[in-house]
Amino acid sequence: MYEPTIGLEIHTELKTKTKMFCGCLNDPEEKHPNVNICPVCAGHPGTLPTINKKAVETVLKLGMALNGKLPETSKFDRKNYFYPDLPKGYQISQFDKPLVMGGELNGVRITRIHLEEDTARLLHETGNMKHETQKNVSSFKFQVSSLVDFNRAGVPLMELVTEPDIKSGEEAVKFAKELQLILRHLEISNADMEKGQMRVEVNISVGKNGERGTKVEIKNLNSFKVVGDAVKYEIERQSELLEKGEKIFQETRGWDDVKKRTVSQRLKEESHDYRYFPEPDLPPMDLKEFDLESLKIEIPELPAEKRKRFIKEYGLSEGQVEALIEDRGMAKFFEESVSESEAEEGEKNIKLFFNYLTSDLRGLMVEQKIAFDELKITPENFADLIVLIAKGDLSSRMAKDILKEMSLTGLDPNKIIEKGGLKQISGDDELRPTLEKIVKENPEAILNYKNGKETALQFLIGQAMAKLKGRGNPDALKKILEKLIS
Ligand code: ZN
Ligand code: MN
Repeated sequence: MYEPTIGLEIHTELKTKTKMFCGCLNDPEEKHPNVNICPVCAGHPGTLPTINKKAVETVLKLGMALNGKLPETSKFDRKNYFYPDLPKGYQISQFDKPLVMGGELNGVRITRIHLEEDTARLLHETGNMKHETQKNVSSFKFQVSSLVDFNRAGVPLMELVTEPDIKSGEEAVKFAKELQLILRHLEISNADMEKGQMRVEVNISVGKNGERGTKVEIKNLNSFKVVGDAVKYEIERQSELLEKGEKIFQETRGWDDVKKRTVSQRLKEESHDYRYFPEPDLPPMDLKEFDLESLKIEIPELPAEKRKRFIKEYGLSEGQVEALIEDRGMAKFFEESVSESEAEEGEKNIKLFFNYLTSDLRGLMVEQKIAFDELKITPENFADLIVLIAKGDLSSRMAKDILKEMSLTGLDPNKIIEKGGLKQISGDDELRPTLEKIVKENPEAILNYKNGKETALQFLIGQAMAKLKGRGNPDALKKILEKLIS
């Protein structure tokens, strides 16, 4: 049995206002090409870069959050290679003095975190060509042209490299997901993999008896699922090759999502191929000049601590906590609304808070395409609604309707109830006349019920509910009805 050894390299686009070495806007939503560009990020000769301090601070903050070591000095280097998406012919990156060394996440050691610049985006246009011979006609695709959009060129890009501590595709995915959650908590990046804001590369080798084989790198993995699938595929591919006595090449492979397999792209470069040398246009950085204490204070509670606290404080299950903290806004809303209701009541109603928040309210927000910071419902009003539900004043149907009204108007639930006369009717005196009428109108159903047909009772309650426009308390209706017809 061959054992895999896996390390990750994760690139993340930082959510800064401006680019890494110039004042151009860093706007990933910009659809029009080549709007946010200037001579610096377009790589014109004679232009000089300046360091985006905010981007440096962001990486230092993450380094502290992951318990990494911050060196006293750091510097930028040139990584030389030619590709049309790299206007200068080199990428400003960091080689031997990254901003962060070491650290740990999910039991996986972090080697380093460094800062560099993103490349331009290439858009390849293809055409169809017909090829005719005497025997047959075939058609094939060929490339017409490639277009370059420099909006992304020079966007701050953070690279995190792990030690090869990972042993399976599941572990790799777990690490990447936890990092994504942390990046979102720290508001460093939206880290959306589909949008290329977070890009995971896997280094993987297999070997027997603790031996390490030849390392293969897999790129272009644009979702967590693909990361898991690619690792699984690659473990099998490499094991089979070795089993047959064949050799594994040190190469870069990509993922073919149609055929669900990795494909060879090119032989892997060594770092000396890039001819790294210190960036002469930027001074080395003295990290003592950064206010590390203030940065540390800005680090919010991280997901791992939040999980523990939520389980302890609210008695929620691990699964429930996970559902809450996957969205920092939702976790915050949950805590604020629970604390708005009376301490004792809050605790008693935790399940209601959780259910109405994660299913009903969440559903409404997906429908309305809004995030928690755009929500009109205040935690206080949400707490009021939960208390009304807990007291039995509202049926679940009414609660859903009121919640929807709240999301549209931002009104407090009691106002909506007053305005619409929506309160649930539970009183014997109020329900009895309606039920008496129903009993009189449906002799057949009464007979069926007396002959043991339980569903007849549900039918009668349904009739009464319709007359009460859904405002009757179903339990109260059932009790009175049973008394009336037995
Ligand atoms: Zn620029
Ligand atoms: Mn890189």
